[in-house]
Amino acid sequence: TRPPPFNGSASHTNVANNAKTNPSFNRWQKIAQQRKSLPIASVERRLVQEVRNNDTLIIVGETGSGKTTQIPQFLFNAGFCRDGKIVGVTQPRRVAAVTVAKRVAEESGVELGQRVGYSIRFDDMTSSSTRIKYMTDGLLLREALLDPYLSRYSVLIVDEAHERTVHTDVLLGLLKDVQNKRSASAYGCPNTENKQLNDGVLLDKGQGVWSGAMKQCQSRRFSTLKLIIMSASLDARVFSDYFGGARAVHVQGRQFPVDILYTLHPQPDYLDATLITIFQIHLEEGPGDVLVFLTGQEEIESVERLIQERLRQLPESNRNMWTVSIFSSQPSEKQMRVFAPTPPGFRKVILATNIAETSVTIPGIKYVVDPGFVKARSYDAAKGMESLIVIPTSKAQALQRSGRAGREGPGKCFRLYPESEFEKLEDSTKPEIKRCNLSNVVLQLMALGVDDVIGFDFIEKPPRAAVVKSLEQLFLLGALTEDCKLSDPLGHQMARFPLDPIYSKALIQASQFNCLEEMLITVAMLSVESIFYAPREKLEEARTAMKCFSSAEGDHITLINVFRAADEFSEKRKSGQSKEKDDKVLKKWCKENFINSRSLRHARDIHRQIQGHVEQMGLHIASCKDDIVQFRRCLAASFFLNAALKQPEGSYRALASGQVVQIHPSSVLFRTKPECIIFNELVQTNHKYIRNITRIDYLWLAELAPQYYSMQR
Ligand code: ADP
Ligand code: MG
Repeated sequence: TRPPPFNGSASHTNVANNAKTNPSFNRWQKIAQQRKSLPIASVERRLVQEVRNNDTLIIVGETGSGKTTQIPQFLFNAGFCRDGKIVGVTQPRRVAAVTVAKRVAEESGVELGQRVGYSIRFDDMTSSSTRIKYMTDGLLLREALLDPYLSRYSVLIVDEAHERTVHTDVLLGLLKDVQNKRSASAYGCPNTENKQLNDGVLLDKGQGVWSGAMKQCQSRRFSTLKLIIMSASLDARVFSDYFGGARAVHVQGRQFPVDILYTLHPQPDYLDATLITIFQIHLEEGPGDVLVFLTGQEEIESVERLIQERLRQLPESNRNMWTVSIFSSQPSEKQMRVFAPTPPGFRKVILATNIAETSVTIPGIKYVVDPGFVKARSYDAAKGMESLIVIPTSKAQALQRSGRAGREGPGKCFRLYPESEFEKLEDSTKPEIKRCNLSNVVLQLMALGVDDVIGFDFIEKPPRAAVVKSLEQLFLLGALTEDCKLSDPLGHQMARFPLDPIYSKALIQASQFNCLEEMLITVAMLSVESIFYAPREKLEEARTAMKCFSSAEGDHITLINVFRAADEFSEKRKSGQSKEKDDKVLKKWCKENFINSRSLRHARDIHRQIQGHVEQMGLHIASCKDDIVQFRRCLAASFFLNAALKQPEGSYRALASGQVVQIHPSSVLFRTKPECIIFNELVQTNHKYIRNITRIDYLWLAELAPQYYSMQR
C-alpha cells in the first residue's frame, strides 16, 4: 500500500519532512499503525493460503478483529484481482457497505469509487477500475439477474452471515449453485451435447437456476469462484455443513473484561432509563465514549433532542458531551461522523441502531447502554401481514453489544433490565427468512429461473405457508400466471424494480391510470422513515405546520404536497451558486415546517433513481393534475391487499387478514375516520397501528381488483 497522494507535494519530497508538516501523511501513518495492530494482521499469509487451498472457506472472528476491512485488501495484494477480476463483499446493511468502503479506500490511499467502491440500492460508487467492491446482499442478488455467473468476481465474501437476513440466506443458496456451475465450466465448458449438462448437476429436474444463461457457456469458460463466509458468531457448523463440510478457520480477537450491570427492577419507560443512564455515566464515570443501542430513527432523534435539552440545564463545565448518531436512512456524511475523533475534554455519545452491534466498529468506546430491544420484521403467514415490531434482543445480541465496550480496554455495559430477564431471552435470533413476507424473494428467485421455490436448496427452509402465501400474493398482483410462471411482461417488469413487488406493481399500474408522476413521489416518500417530526415541546406548532400540507383525502396526497412544496421552494430559491448553499436553504425551510430534512433529502434521491428505472422501462410518466379521484382509484387498485373497513366503535378491520387495527395518531385521517381506506404500513406496539392511509370508495375494490374482491366476498 502507498500513502495517499500528498497535498500537492512532489513525490521526491523527503519523507521525514512530510511527517512533520503534512497532516494527511500523519493520518496515513496512524492508519497504517492501527492496521498493523489488528489481530488479523499477523495471520495475513495464512489466511491467503487458506483461500488458495479451499474454494469455500468459513471465517469466524470476533467483531472488530479486522475481517471486513482487511481480508479484501489481503486478497487484492495476493493477486486475486488479476485480469480485472473483482473481490466482492456483501453486507446485510447499507450503512456498513458505505462506511467500510470509505474506510478501506482511505486505508489503501485511493479515491472512493476507484479501486475501492461500494454499491447499494439507489447509490452506486463504483467504476470500471473498482477491484474491491462492498455492496448489500440484496444488490448482489439483483446483479445475478443480469450476470447469472457473477463472472466479474473472482472471490465473493458473504459478510455478517450470522445475521441471517433473508437476502443472505437466499444468496448463500445462489452462490453455492454459481460456484458449482463455474467449477464445472472451468474443467471444460459443457457443450449442448454434453449429457452431464442436461441430466446431471447442472439442470437437475428442471430446477437449473441458469437454464437460460447456460447457452452463453458454450463459448465461455469461467474460473472457479472462491467463496468466503464470514461470521461473528462462533458457531460455524451450520455454514460448514451447508457447504458440504467446508473448512472453517477462527481469527482470534482481543477482548478486555466488561462489567455487566443490570437494573434492580424492570424499567417501564426504557427511553427515560436510557437518558438517566447516559447522564449518570457522563457525570460519574471516568473518560471514555458511550454507545447506546436504540431501535430506530425516531427513537434516536427523540433521545438526541432530550439529551440536548438536559445538557442546557447542566452547569457549563458539564456540557462537554458530543452526541452523534448512526442509522440506515441517514445521509452517509452524517454516518461517517461517528468515526470522527472525540474532541479533547469531550465525551462522545453515539446513538445507534443495531448497526453498531457487529456491522461497524467504532473506536474509543468504553461504555455501552443496552435497553435490550431491537426492531425486527415479523410475519403472520396466515394473515399475510408483515409488520415491524420492537422485541427483546437475543442473548447472543446482548453479548455482542456488551462486547463493544471491551475492545480497547476494560469497559462497562449497562443493561437496562434485571438480570433475571436476561435468562429468559432467546439464545439467538431467529433467521429472518422464518419471519418475513417472502414475495420479494420469491419474485427474484423466479426471475432467476427457480420455478420450484419450495424445493430450492435453502440453508434453512422458510415456512411452507409463507412461500405459498407469497405465491398467492404475487398471483393476485399479476406477477404470476395460473400455472405459477412469471407473467410476461408484468412479472418480469416487476422483478426489475429494486422495490417491494407491491410498489413495483403500483408504479406500473399508475402509468395506466395516468398518475405515474404522483405514484413516483408516493413510493419515494413511503420508502423513507418519518417525513414529519413533532418534538414534544412544540407539538402544537408542528401540528399547525403540518396542516398546510394536509389533504383530507389522506396521507399519500399529504406526502405528495410536502414533496412538491419542497421542490417548488428549491426551484424558487435556487441560488445558482452552490449545492451546499441550496441545501442549507432547504434545510431551513424544513425546520420551519417541521419536516425531517434528512428523510426528505433521502426521498428526493430515491425519487430521482426510480424515475430513472421507470424511464428506462419506457413507462408513460403523466400527472393526473387535480383529478385526485383518479389517483385514489389507482391507490385502491394497487394496494387492495391492504384495504380496511371502519368498525362501529371506530377501529378498522383489515379485509384481507380480518385483523382489527387502529389508525396511527400521526395520520391525517386519525380524527376523520373514513368508512373505507387503504394503508401501507402496520406497526405493532401496544396497539396494532396502521400508517400511510388514504380514503377510498368501498365499491372500487370489487371494480378494480375483481380477482380478489369477487362478488362472494
Ligand atoms: P470486523 O469486520 O472483524 O468486525 P472491521 O474490519 O470492521 O472488523 O474493523 C477493524 C477495525 O477498523 C476496528 O478496530 C475499527 O475500529 C476500525 N475501523 C473500521 N472502520 C473505521 C472507520 N471508518 N474509521 C475508523 N476506524 C475504523
Ligand atoms: Mg465486520
